[in-house]
Amino acid sequence: MLDFKLAPSQPEARLPEEEVYDLIILGGGPAGLTAAIYAGRARIHTLVIVGPLPGGQPANTDMVENFPGFPEGIDGPDLARRFVAQAERFGARMVHDSVTGVDLSVRPFVVRTDMATYRARTLIIAMGAVPRRLGVPGEDRFFGRGVSTCATCDGFFYRDKRVVVVGGGDSAIIEGLYLTRFAREVIVVHRRDQLRATQIHQERAFANPKMRFVWDSAVEEILGEKTVTGVRVRNLKTGETSVIEADGVFIYIGMEPQTEMFRGQLELDERGYIVADRRQRTSVPGVYAAGDIQDPLYRQLVVAAGTGAVAAMEVERFLEMYPD
Ligand code: NAP
Repeated sequence: MLDFKLAPSQPEARLPEEEVYDLIILGGGPAGLTAAIYAGRARIHTLVIVGPLPGGQPANTDMVENFPGFPEGIDGPDLARRFVAQAERFGARMVHDSVTGVDLSVRPFVVRTDMATYRARTLIIAMGAVPRRLGVPGEDRFFGRGVSTCATCDGFFYRDKRVVVVGGGDSAIIEGLYLTRFAREVIVVHRRDQLRATQIHQERAFANPKMRFVWDSAVEEILGEKTVTGVRVRNLKTGETSVIEADGVFIYIGMEPQTEMFRGQLELDERGYIVADRRQRTSVPGVYAAGDIQDPLYRQLVVAAGTGAVAAMEVERFLEMYPD
């Protein structure tokens, strides 16, 4: 079994580190770690700031079936560990920390984290996206104790129970199917009468006797006193409301990029994604973006990894052109 060997951030480094890196990669998901592999092999002096989920979203995914090279599929956390191990092998320094801010108006660029302040001549921003929330009553109150955005983390607690999954995309359906391993019934509540998920996942879901679908419906409230007891849904066609009894609610209604800290410093699109060109260049020379933080369209592992590779190769070119 592969193991993480991330160095903790250095508490003594609350003051700015003297060291100026050639490259800091913000984020340790598929995009950031692919960039780290390429940068390491190019012998670029690199720091990777790995966020709360080393290996990124695959670490929270049961099974990945569409990453080339694994014809039988691969366990998500296993793939995440492999990404980390491969990036480490090529020498990138990794710290486990959270980025709190950047200053792109100075050179070298400044990156602040919970524990330290770092400087670098180039940046690759690959901090991904976070699960979108419903914003309904009960969601915050029960989050982490009945409401979840991670079936692989929490599914085990719902053995022989009834759970609601909200959403109709690949995540909702794949994670809903995963939940059928534990739960006695998985009820998918979707706001339309057609799923958005890939056909193969739809076929599996419709064929699974534990899956049930509530169409054209929006969750309006998560109900319960001490624990979740159900959800109140509104049928969007008839306007009628009803209660679905359930012990847990899993929300998979898409992702949002984490870009607030870049607002005013980098060009963002109307949905908040970082604008990057085909060479992963952002509006600030020397700053590149890769993965889901700049991708409102595809958001696939293999695409994220590809953009990470492109960004690292562009960094290499930039450092050659501007050696100081
Ligand atoms: P997604 O494809 O954006 O789907 C989000 C789902 O949530 C949609 O069905 C959407 O409804 C619904 N939704 C959005 N906002 C809502 C709201 N406020 N209330 C209720 N429902 C709402 O997101 P995702 O499933 O997380 O997938 C993201 C990307 O990752 C996709 O490109 C997906 O293909 C990819 N992905 C791939 C895999 C895989 O291939 N193995 C696994 C997971 C994810 P509408 O359909 O009406 O818009």
